[in-house]
Amino acid sequence: MVNIVLFGKPGSGKGTQAEFIKEKYKLVHVSTGDLFRQNIKNQTDLGKLAQKYMNNGDLVPDNVTIGMLKAEVESNSNANGFLFDGFPRTVDQSISLDNYLEKKKLKIDLTIAIEVEDEILIERILNRGLTSGRKDDQDEIKIKNRFDEYNSKTSFLEEYYKNQNKFKIVDGFGNIEEVTKRLYNEIDELIK
Ligand code: ADP
Repeated sequence: MVNIVLFGKPGSGKGTQAEFIKEKYKLVHVSTGDLFRQNIKNQTDLGKLAQKYMNNGDLVPDNVTIGMLKAEVESNSNANGFLFDGFPRTVDQSISLDNYLEKKKLKIDLTIAIEVEDEILIERILNRGLTSGRKDDQDEIKIKNRFDEYNSKTSFLEEYYKNQNKFKIVDGFGNIEEVTKRLYNEIDELIK
């Protein structure tokens, strides 16, 4: 069993790369962004609650997000391992995740941050917004707000996982296959 966290600023390519990684290593991909978007599409209570935060580029409150994440892990109890994408995003979420996994005699084995310069990210996200229909992708103010959320809340996770010796950085600049290869190298190093 191997459990991996992918993190990186919005637009860094987490979702794209997660698709390759989950296939290769047979992991269950858990994307909180995708889960929220599904709930919004189906207009569930959770979706209605999350919608206003997401549309503005704010983080959804921890208690909501953590509850949803646990439910998703529970419903995949015979997974070979998990690939978390977009979660945790706050130190409280990291602590909750560690406590929760510990109770199940599991742990996070590796966290990888995909790093890309802000300017390139903004360009990528605005481009994605042309076809994705995502409101949070179409407005530079909302995009900047998501970066602020990352800098003020998520960036501390680096320290948190460094202290546990589980933190790696992968350069997210270059074409998709190049980045995928860099990620595979880190994971192969872990499982060899
Ligand atoms: P991106 O990484 O491009 O911002 P995501 O699809 O991962 O896209 O997330 C989109 C939005 O969903 C976030 O801006 C936030 O509002 C909400 N969200 C996703 N994951 C979390 C989380 N772990 N905690 C709080 N909010 C989250």
